[in-house]
Amino acid sequence: DESLHDDLKKTLKSNLEEFDRISDIINNLLTLNAFVRSEYISFGPVHLIKIVETVTEKLKGLRERREVTLTLDTVDAVVWGNSTALEQIATNVFKNAINYTPRGGSISISVKDVSLYYAELAIADTGIGVDRKDLMRVFEPFYRSKRSKERRRGGSGLGLAIVGELVRLHYGQIAFRSSPGKGTTVRITLPKRDRGSGTHIAPIEP
Ligand code: ATP
Ligand code: MG
Repeated sequence: DESLHDDLKKTLKSNLEEFDRISDIINNLLTLNAFVRSEYISFGPVHLIKIVETVTEKLKGLRERREVTLTLDTVDAVVWGNSTALEQIATNVFKNAINYTPRGGSISISVKDVSLYYAELAIADTGIGVDRKDLMRVFEPFYRSKRSKERRRGGSGLGLAIVGELVRLHYGQIAFRSSPGKGTTVRITLPKRDRGSGTHIAPIEP
């Protein structure tokens, strides 16, 4: 509503962002608790671009406030998955990229077709990175590096633990590469077809 006073607009906007943040935390806790068994979630063809659009739109406000730029490089790849779970994966990884990248930094997201069977979602940032000795721990529940605790951002240390579980549920793979002070790249490879029944997804249009 454009007629609202600027201060009120600002407050409402920041409230909405806070609701989003709380909702992400609750979703993470629920997912961790249910520990997502594949028989409970339905799988089908999902356009990775749609996931990227939803998540980048949802976190646009946060990213802009942090003064971090975003570039996209995407093809229309379809994977076999659950869109809610894929959104949670992308949200958690993208949010880390925003939270652990200082002002003026950049994030790039790409979606690629890597083979007949797999597509890849990659999120790279120019942020603070993770020390080599801590790399093995980032997927542990409740783990947060000393550096990120100092930044007082992000939250509970559950984000990547859940991402790991959800990627496993999709029979996907995840690679976390990081260089302290330079940045981090998270690559998620996901099957394009159903493993169980072997059904193929229709060919991807150019
Ligand atoms: P939550 O996601 O639950 O709000 P969190 O961000 O601390 O909290 P995770 O997302 O699981 O937890 O990440 C675990 C830790 O890995 C982080 O605390 C941080 O130290 C490190 N980390 C994750 N992603 C990045 C990144 N892109 N750059 C630098 N460090 C990262
Ligand atoms: Mg996180």
